[in-house]
Formats: sequence, structure tokens, C-alpha cells
Amino acid sequence: MGLPREVAAAARDFPMLVPRSYAGRMRHGDAADPLLRQVLPVDAEHLPLPGFTTDPVGDRQAESGRGLLHKYHGRVLLVLTGACAVNCRYCFRRHYPYNTASAGPKEWKAALEAIAADDSVEEVILSGGDPLMLADALLAELAEAIEQISHVRRLRIHTRLPIVMPERVTDQWTQWLAAGRLTKVVVVHANHANELDRQVGSSLARLRATGATLLNQAVLLRGVNDSTAAQRELCERLVEQGVTPYYLHQLDRVAGAGHFEVPVPEGLEIIRQLRATLPGYMVPRYVQEIAGEPNKRVLA
Ligand SMILES: *Cc1c(COP(=O)(O)O)cnc(C)c1O
Ligand code: SF4
Repeated sequence: MGLPREVAAAARDFPMLVPRSYAGRMRHGDAADPLLRQVLPVDAEHLPLPGFTTDPVGDRQAESGRGLLHKYHGRVLLVLTGACAVNCRYCFRRHYPYNTASAGPKEWKAALEAIAADDSVEEVILSGGDPLMLADALLAELAEAIEQISHVRRLRIHTRLPIVMPERVTDQWTQWLAAGRLTKVVVVHANHANELDRQVGSSLARLRATGATLLNQAVLLRGVNDSTAAQRELCERLVEQGVTPYYLHQLDRVAGAGHFEVPVPEGLEIIRQLRATLPGYMVPRYVQEIAGEPNKRVLA
């Protein structure tokens, strides 16, 4: 209802999903709004493009147990759920087979046993989907179980919810985040300064008050943040809200996201200009994930 036919078609494969609070930060009546562009299904998603695939970063070959991705030394990533509060059109896991490849509470025991059996694992990353789609009681229980594994030192949480739905930063969350012996790192995901309004800022401040380190990862996206000015404003706003810019990702070549791709030389030029004008800590590392490599490749 109300959506053009081509939009409706793209939305069938990967539904349009936008929280009210996030929609409220868009500029009304502006079809080129950088927030709208991240979530609006478009016809271009159906153009098959060479090199764009359903598993662009080799996640399936890195699965060491159900929902457990072990790609890099010392870190394992737990795919807790396929659910998200927002469906970003460029999502590299938009075709991920969550039904059979995520670790819900029933699969935790096996995943925790695998982590306990490998004393090289120092950091557990909760991911998804968005791990904060799970209830705080469950997450608190999981964090406690991870803490029981003596060789694990850090718990990292990859979540976009503090940005797209700041009201998700509940007292229950900040309580379990502040508890326990593990060093906590929360990596949020904002791509544009307009995503970081006052309400988001106060939610981020509450997360920071737990003692957790706050980092941001962004994706370089055509028509969203593909200019030095947009990136500079994003970095400035992040630092003002207590978040250190961590990674700027080159787009993973996932089928359906080709219209977002910015060529690497353009990304390199943006980073060069940021480095020339901002303090070092405000400039993210520009990275690309290459399947099979031992770390994310640092482009600049
Ligand atoms: C990106 C990623 C990590 C984290 O990498 P860092 O460089 O430590 O941020 C860990 N595991 C997997 C599977 C990843 O894709
Ligand atoms: S929040 Fe993250 S996992 Fe969820 S759709 Fe967006 S990019 Fe994908």
C-alpha cells in the first residue's frame, strides 16, 4: 500500500523495517535524505552485478559451530539472532541463513563449551542480527556464563540499537553491562551525523557511564556519507557523544547492495583529507574484509 511497485518487489526479499525514532530524524520530503536511503528498498537491488554474492565475506566457511564464527586470532563472534530493529539495505548478512546458522539460547551451551575448550579465545563478540533484540535477562545470563570461562577477558557487543532505537538502552542493560570482571566494549553503527541526535547522545552517555569503551563502525555508502564533509561531521559528532570512530568499512559486495558501492580510490581520498584536517583519534581506519585473510585489511 502506497509503495511504488519496484519498491514493493525489493521489500519482499528483505522487508523494509525502520524504527519510528530513526524515521523521525529524516528530513521530510527529501528523497535523497541520507537516513532514508539506508533503509528504502529500491529497484536497483534487483540488478545482478558480477562480484556481488550472497556470502561476500566467507562467513559460512568460518563457522566453527552453530552461530560461532572464528575468523581471527583470539576473537570469536556469536551470531545470536537474525533479528534487527532496522533492515539496512546494504547489510552484508541480508542473505544469511539465520534459521540454521544462528545460536539462540538453545545453542548457547554448545557454543560456550567450544569457547571453553579453546584457551586462545580472549574476546567474545556478541553479534547478529542485533544481539540487543534479545531480552536483558537472557543477555545478562549469557554474559555471566561467558565470564565463567577463565581465559576470556573481554566481551564486545556489536549493536546498532543505541543508534536506531535509543530507548533500548534500558537500566537492565546498563546494569549487566556494568557488572562482572570482563572488559566491555560496545561497538555501535552510525553512518551519518544526522543519526546522532540528542536522545541518542544521552543513551550513549548512559552506556559510557557503565565504564564500557564505545566505538563506532560505519560503512562507506554512495549517497549517504561519500564525501569528506559528511565523514568529518560524523566523526566530530561521534567524539562529542563519547564514541571513538573505529572502522570505516568498504562495502561488502553483497547481492542487492551494488548501488551503494564507492570505489576504493575515492574512499582513500576521503581518508587522506580527514587525516589532513582532524586529530588522529578522530579518523577511523578504512578497512575491507577479505574472505580468508587473518584480519580485516587496512586500506588506510
Ligand atoms: C569483523 C569481525 C571480527 C572483529 O574484528 P576486529 O578487527 O577485531 O574488530 C571478529 N570476528 C569476525 C567473524 C568478524 O567478521
Ligand atoms: S543493523 Fe546491522 S545486522 Fe541489522 S540490518 Fe543493519 S547492518 Fe544488518
